[in-house]
Amino acid sequence: MTAKKESIEERIDRLHAGRIIDLHFDLPMDLYEKRERENVLATEFLPELEAGDIGVVGVAIYIEDRYLPEIGLRVALDQIARLYTEAYACPRFAICKSWHEIQKARDADKIALLITMEGAEPLGTDLNLLRTFYELGVRSIGLTHARRNAAGNGGVFAAKGSSSDGLTGFGRDLVRECEALGIIIDLAHINPAGFNEILSMTTRPPIVSHTNARRYYDIERNISDEQIKMIGKRHGVIGINSVLVSPKEEESTVDHFIDHIEHVVNLIGIDGVGIGFDFFEFIYSRWPESAKKELAEKFTTPKFIPDLRNHSHARNLTRKLIERGFGDEQVEKILRGNWLRIFEELL
Ligand SMILES: [Zn+2]
Repeated sequence: MTAKKESIEERIDRLHAGRIIDLHFDLPMDLYEKRERENVLATEFLPELEAGDIGVVGVAIYIEDRYLPEIGLRVALDQIARLYTEAYACPRFAICKSWHEIQKARDADKIALLITMEGAEPLGTDLNLLRTFYELGVRSIGLTHARRNAAGNGGVFAAKGSSSDGLTGFGRDLVRECEALGIIIDLAHINPAGFNEILSMTTRPPIVSHTNARRYYDIERNISDEQIKMIGKRHGVIGINSVLVSPKEEESTVDHFIDHIEHVVNLIGIDGVGIGFDFFEFIYSRWPESAKKELAEKFTTPKFIPDLRNHSHARNLTRKLIERGFGDEQVEKILRGNWLRIFEELL
């Protein structure tokens, strides 16, 4: 008698049993924009997160230009308030501030939310406020988005042109204080000079929560082979982004998303790659044409992958990884294992 052969869907079920980690999701700004409503998290997001077997999500505080500079801090606090209200209203979620809490949430099969910050704008130039955000649960900070701020400069959405300056004095203080408090420093978006400076100042494994390889999409907002190797040398992890896999619509596919994974693996090994989906079609699709045009002029028109455009599509990624020949152990490291190692080491 031979054992029944496992089907690909059964294999996906088995690989997803330990859940998937996505380290970049613009959830708080959406909850804030919908602040007149209740149970947005449970009704609009939970079904997709559950369908995709998502176990940990990095949820990013991000402040849109229209709130800056005057009410950036206030909107950031409001975003966190919405997140707590919404997460506490639904027992399927747990806001986690430590490795221990993440483990506890995973053991209880809850979806762990890790609060992150994309761009240090909420702090202004007040380092004291970092402590406030730390106490509120922020555990990872990327110093900049694409724009310049008090901490440093973002990488532009072009092959060259971002500032040759690294961090400001405030940016350097911020990096030191993050390391002292135990806040992960996220290198996504920072310009190349800032990237180098942060690595020269820090000792812990660095992360890039959501990015793509410049080899396939050559803009400074993504990362070069040399930068990928620098992350690998320090045992860091790079999360692959689903919205910048190619400047071309026809190349924005799950296969090409996996090309980015494969490229990082070829350069630094299987321990250096994770997921930072950056799904935001749900936000983009609501925008008026004028806002879409503004985004295209300032950055680029996002190219969403048709069958990887929200969390419910995560199985499509795993299926394709299997088809492309990735083994169980490799798939598990990509889907969660590498981020779990970072959490264990840094949180
Ligand atoms: Zn981003």
